[in-house]
Formats: sequence, C-alpha cells, structure tokens
Amino acid sequence: MIPAQIFNQINDKCTEGLALALASNDDGAVMEFQWCNKAFTTITGYEEAEALGQRGTILIGPDLEQGIHLYIIEKLMNWENFSTKALNNRKNGDVYWQRMSWVHLSDPETGNHWWLCSIIELEEERAEPAKRATNDLEVADQEGYARAVEKVHRLEKENTRLHELAKSVAKDANEDALTGLSNRRHFEVELKTWIENLKQHGTEFAVLYIDLDRFKFVNDTLGHDAGDRLLVSVANMLRDLTDKSDLVARLGGDEFVILKPLGKSALNVSSMADEIVQRMQAPFTFDGKSTACSVSVGVAIAKANMEDPERVVTDSDEALYHAKSQGKGRWSFFTEEMHAKSIATKQLASDLLLACERREFIPYFQPLIDAATGRIACAEMLVRWSHPTKGILAPAAFLDTAANMGVLKRIDEIIFASLHGALTRLDEAGVDLPRVAVNVSAARLADPTFIHDIKSSGINPERLTVEILESVYLDRMGDVVRWTIDELDELGVTIALDDFGTGHASVRGLLEIKPAILKIDRHFIQPVVADESARPLAESIIGIGKSLGMRVVAEGVESEEHAHLVSEMGCDYLQGFYFGRPMSEDDLRDRLIETGGKFWTCGLWGPDSDMSRGLGRAV
Ligand code: C2E
Ligand code: CA
Ligand code: CA
Repeated sequence: MIPAQIFNQINDKCTEGLALALASNDDGAVMEFQWCNKAFTTITGYEEAEALGQRGTILIGPDLEQGIHLYIIEKLMNWENFSTKALNNRKNGDVYWQRMSWVHLSDPETGNHWWLCSIIELEEERAEPAKRATNDLEVADQEGYARAVEKVHRLEKENTRLHELAKSVAKDANEDALTGLSNRRHFEVELKTWIENLKQHGTEFAVLYIDLDRFKFVNDTLGHDAGDRLLVSVANMLRDLTDKSDLVARLGGDEFVILKPLGKSALNVSSMADEIVQRMQAPFTFDGKSTACSVSVGVAIAKANMEDPERVVTDSDEALYHAKSQGKGRWSFFTEEMHAKSIATKQLASDLLLACERREFIPYFQPLIDAATGRIACAEMLVRWSHPTKGILAPAAFLDTAANMGVLKRIDEIIFASLHGALTRLDEAGVDLPRVAVNVSAARLADPTFIHDIKSSGINPERLTVEILESVYLDRMGDVVRWTIDELDELGVTIALDDFGTGHASVRGLLEIKPAILKIDRHFIQPVVADESARPLAESIIGIGKSLGMRVVAEGVESEEHAHLVSEMGCDYLQGFYFGRPMSEDDLRDRLIETGGKFWTCGLWGPDSDMSRGLGRAV
C-alpha cells in the first residue's frame, strides 16, 4: 500500500505531464479527463479545473499533423497502448514538440476503462519547431494534398461521430439509465464535493440510504418488468419528496441514496425518512397483481466536527442494516453503538474464517432419554467453538454470523468429521450409546458431498439421526434437498424435524419431509408445568406427530415434574437440562459409565434416591 502522502507528491513533483481519463465502454476514443498533475498543466497550458470533464480532443492542437491525429484516434478506438512524437499546440496556441503516450487501464471491480495519458516536452526539438511545421506544408505535392483533403473529410466525419457519442456518454456517465436518477459514479463525484464543502464551509448534510425489503421477491414472482417498474416508481417517489438542493441517486440494484443539506434542524431529515417508509407501505400493483414492498432506510449525518466525514455513507449503511435487523419497513438513525457492533461482527467474521481453517469447532453432546425406559436413546451433537482466548463458545455467539457468511456448511463438515472418532472412543469405553443425532444446516443439506461424507465416514448410518430445521423446507431449496432426504432415507439414516412449531407452514413441511421423528420446540414444552393453559397447544402439536405415526421428542425438559407431564402427553423421548446439558465427549463417557445408560427411573424414585444425585447438573 503506497502512503497517500507519497502518492500525492506525484501531482506536484513529477515532471512528466500525467492525466487520467475515464473512457466510454463502447469506444476508447471517447473519454473524459478525471485527473491531471501539475506538469500536465505546465506543458499543455490547461489548468486542472479546465481539463477535468473535457474530452481527449483538447490535446489535439491545430498544428498536430492530421495523419498523427487519425493514428491517435484509431489506437484509442482499439484500446491499443501507443506512444507518438509530434508537433502540437499548447492551449494558447504555442507550438512545441512532445512525446505523448497512452496506456489503457481497466478497473476489475466496476469494469470501467481508463486511459493514462503522459506527455513529455522534448527539449532538443524546441529550437526549430516552427520551421519544421512550415516545411511540412511546403513539401505537400498534388497527391499529398488530395490525401490530406480526404483525411480531413474522414476526420470531420469522425469528429461528428465522436461528438454525438460524447454527448450520450456524458449523460450516461452520470445518469442511471432506468430511473434517470444520478448513478453511482455521479453520486461518488458529488459526495466528494459535499464533503469538501463540509470541510471548508461547515455545510452539514444527511445521508439517507434506502433499500427495498422484498425486491428479489417482486422480481422472482412478478417478473423483471415489474421489478423495473417498481424501481422507477420508487425513483419518482424520491424525486417527489426531495427538492433541488438534494441529490438522489440509484447506486445499483434496489439501493438508493439521498444527500440532503441539513439546514437548521435534523427534523426535515427524519420526517423525510418517515415519509419514504410510509409511502412504501402502500401495495405496489403491476398487471393487476399487487404486492407489498416496504423499504428500510438508514440515516447518518455528516457533521462539521467529524474526524472522517468520508465515513458517513458507511454509517448510513450500518443504520440501514440495523433497520433491517429490527424487522424492516422502518428507518434507523446511526449511533456509535451500531458502529461498535458492526466492528464486532466484522471481527467475529474474520475470527470465524480463521477458526474454520484451524478447525477450532468441537462437538458437545446432549442425551435424549427414552420416556418409556428412562435409558439414553440418543445423544444430540451440538457444536461448540473452542476459542483460543474466550474458551468454549455456544452457537448463539457465532452461528448467525456464520450462516450470514455462508460458512455454516463448513462448520457442519468440520464437526461431522470428528464424530466417527468420538463414537469409536465411546464404543471402546464400553458405554451404551445407541445413536447420535447431528444438526444439519440448509446449505449442508443442499451440498451433494454431504451424502458422500456420511458414506465415507465409517459411521453406521443406522446409528445416525439427521436433524433438519423445519425452515429448510420453507427455503424452497427444491430438488437437491428432496434428493438428499431420499438418499438419507435409503441409507437407513433417521430423519428428525427440529424445532417443530416455529416455522410457518409447519404441517405442509411435515408432510413433505415425512420425518420419522418430530422434535417439538422447547417454547411449546417449557411453559406446560407453570401454565396449565399452555397444555392444550402442546398436546395438539404432539398429537399432529402421533397421528402421522411419528415419534415425538420433547425439547427443553428442565425438571422431573416436567418430564412426567410431557411423557404423559405422549412424548416418546425427552431432552433437556434435567437429564444433562450439552457436554464434552469425556463428560458424556463419564456420565454413561456412572449411570450405566439409565438417566431416569420414570418417577419410580424420589428426590433422595441414589439415582437422582448428579442428574440434571450443569456441565
Ligand atoms: P437445537 O438443535 O434446538 O439444540 C438444542 C438447544 O437447546 C441446545 O442449545 C441446547 O443447549 C438447548 N437446550 C437443551 N435442553 C435445554 C433445556 O432444558 N433448557 C434450555 N433453556 N435449553 C436447552 P445450543 O447447543 O446452544 O444450540 C443452539 C442451536 O444451535 C441448536 O438448537 C441448533 O439449532 C444450532 N446448532 C447447534 N449445533 C449445531 C451444529 O452442529 N450445526 C448446525 N447447523 N446447527 C447447530
Ligand atoms: Ca437440534
Ligand atoms: Ca431443537
């Protein structure tokens, strides 16, 4: 990374005239200067302010030979790097010898094309420029003259074409084609100016970052035309709400941004954010079909006393993220707290990547008890992050971030790979552990290597339960998931539907997946002891599973009374802190040895009996 202070010195100290021009994607000969250094001004006579935004043709002086002019255009049109020595004019008409070189640069991120133009004044030629120029004219014979006329014609035609193109490019360059709002490029240029004004004159402004909540859904269900229409109507709405002094841009996709001078109070900013959210509550109709598409807005203020006002757009983006996480269809104001949180999330994300590389994830196990016999029927494998400095971390600390980053699949892979070793060691210790259950994320389920990993794991599939979240079905993962579930079934792996009752299309998902086991989410199970009125709901959910011939697991069993109650309600298996918290492999082994596999005497023993001691303790 080159320090900015060093980079900036190119501007002052480099004796070669340098300029950067953004070229049109369609035609390399159409461009606009975006930057030049001091030497460029000294040599060509164009001040930076005059050169910026100008076309490359300002470098074509009246004394530049036509042939060279054509040569330059041709090379530029074909994106070819070249260098040419020629007699040319400065802005004031003075003639001088120069070497002009052009190098094509491309931006892999935006796909934009750039030219780096460098101009050196050739000292040794200085003495006789004028003479050489007139000589050229003198030697022109008849034939040469005809050629020159033809060249001039071609050149004129070329110039008209370039002029037309340049006009459309200048417009395109700043405008979003679909909505006519400013585009990202123009926004960025403007933002720089706004920040400059803030620094120099203290003109504070607000940034409103706007994102549609369900744009993908509209596109997917109503089609792209509808999506385009929606974007245009949002653009019109924003235009309607803003005034001349505001800048409204579409940054791409369904993201919009407004720059608004702050004026005397922030009130006009918050009422504008309110209004945007309000207006988008109205349904959007396309071709007679209507759908709701709310927006979320993040607001941040660029203040005069800010250390780095350049941060303001990121701040507004963080506020937007906050608005989304609070349930969408709302706006949020940026706070330092959000900033701290987002830094923490970024840190967590990078730590997680490292943890995947170092395979820092380990399995914990929680017993599932057979309600009829009180014996262990299964152990659910639950991931823990063995963090190098923070100790053992539960999934709540990292699973959401891992899922957002797309590394949950990798974590599932890592702990699954450790399962065979754990099972072998437990078997060798002579304990009775009939089966294990593993949690599988949607992404892992859609990954064809999952089946392969099971087959090659060395684990007997008959001893394996795969817990699938109810929401997996709702994710419409489609055929791959369906195929994986069928494959698992064929291998003899048991399928359990996890957290039943928390998804939306519960029964539909149930009929689709047809699991052998239904795990009732602990939110239905937990209240039944304290709250009699919660029992009918739990009973009816248990009843759904039973009526479909499934075995039912009660999650979150925390006391003996609880265990009795839910087994009476018909649950076949019980899982919860009462029988044991998730524990390490070594602790599970010790517990199995200690209890001989019998965790509960189904109420045949009282609280003082031998069996009760040591049960339900936290591990
Ligand atoms: P889950 O699959 O529903 O796992 C049961 C969770 O409930 C565990 O939390 C467990 O500690 C907790 N629990 C068990 N009994 C009780 C109880 O009596 N009372 C209360 N209050 N809680 C109880 P844990 O280990 O923190 O896991 C949380 C969730 O993280 C799991 O919920 C599961 O959805 C996910 N998860 C855990 N391990 C993995 C994994 O390896 N892969 C994937 N994809 N997800 C995992
Ligand atoms: Ca589970
Ligand atoms: Ca569960």
